[in-house]
Amino acid sequence: MTDSAFAIIGCPKCRRMQVASLSHATKTCACGYKIDLSKAKLLRVCESADDAGELLRSFAAPKNSGFVSASEFVPKKE
Ligand SMILES: [Zn+2]
Repeated sequence: MTDSAFAIIGCPKCRRMQVASLSHATKTCACGYKIDLSKAKLLRVCESADDAGELLRSFAAPKNSGFVSASEFVPKKE
């Protein structure tokens, strides 16, 4: 088992996704819930915190939030 891996996990209580270092047994969520990493579902495992953070941002990006991309508003050139 390596102690340099980072996982993206979802808090079972508030569903917030976050990066957790697998060198720890638990991760305390921003909501206060203590996530047991041995039981948590690891959505993705990365070798560095940077990679995990990057992935987390892509996961957390709103998909159906009502926002549309800026290109929708850029007038088409004729
Ligand atoms: Zn939480």
